[in-house]
Amino acid sequence: MNDTADISAAVTRAPGAPVACWSCAGPVAPEALFCATCRVVQPPRAIDHFARLGVPRGFAVDTRALEARYFALQRQLHPDRFATRGPREKAISQSQAVSLNDAYEALKAPLGRAAYLLALAGQGIDDERTIRDPDLLVEQMERRETLDEARDAAGVETCIGAAVADAMSIEAELAAAFGADDLVAARRATLRLRYLQKLIDEARARHARLLGEG
Ligand SMILES: [Zn+2]
Repeated sequence: MNDTADISAAVTRAPGAPVACWSCAGPVAPEALFCATCRVVQPPRAIDHFARLGVPRGFAVDTRALEARYFALQRQLHPDRFATRGPREKAISQSQAVSLNDAYEALKAPLGRAAYLLALAGQGIDDERTIRDPDLLVEQMERRETLDEARDAAGVETCIGAAVADAMSIEAELAAAFGADDLVAARRATLRLRYLQKLIDEARARHARLLGEG
């Protein structure tokens, strides 16, 4: 139970105006999973994914620490711990688990994290279906052509390798752009990364098919 106490203490120190515990009405930090007064599980509050997972808001996230944090929080909500609790506490613990899962899924990969940061800044890319940047358009068409022309698994592998290398350099650009609060550069890099990710996924599927046929 020691890890529970440590993490509850950590989230209690996080910023954010306290809310009232649903059970005892005592003050609770919006990030807290449990009330410090009565120890009862708390429902997920309207806070951003970074606050929910207790990590600083930003692109440069230590993903190992994020993962460790996520699992430590989820352990506190394990159904076994609520076996003797009432239906309301069981339901609340499950909705907390779902919210934590949503937060982790959104932040764990660079593309999701970048898109989420842009959305928080009112610069969401979700409805940007077409790309208006001419350089980016040319880059896409060339890459698409190279992939279409690859006739065997080795050719597709080369395309994947090049796209993965580019994705890694875009991730470095993203870290710099978000670090400098340059949302224009961050947005452009995020769109590029989203495109590359789609291409990599497609190329991997094609690679698997080619290997299957061989
Ligand atoms: Zn309470």
